[in-house]
Amino acid sequence: MGDKLNTVTMKCEIAVALVLEFLEGNLNPEVRRSLESHLAKCQPCSRLVATYKRTTQLCHRALLRQPPPELGDRLLRFLRERTLQNKGE
Ligand SMILES: [Zn+2]
Repeated sequence: MGDKLNTVTMKCEIAVALVLEFLEGNLNPEVRRSLESHLAKCQPCSRLVATYKRTTQLCHRALLRQPPPELGDRLLRFLRERTLQNKGE
């Protein structure tokens, strides 16, 4: 009864928003577990994770080689905001 709904408790919207945190290990265990169970059931989202992994690796390499000032600035601000958010919780 309603098995499908119960197994995919997390919506794709939320899963997508959490992927970056997930890859960086910033999620608390409870959230990580529900994300992992979503990824196991949801192919589009698990493919997204694979894409993210590759993209972040490429980004790291690109940034190390030649950091574009504007992008670096935006990235830093983004990271700082996220760090603040994490500490606030
Ligand atoms: Zn999904």
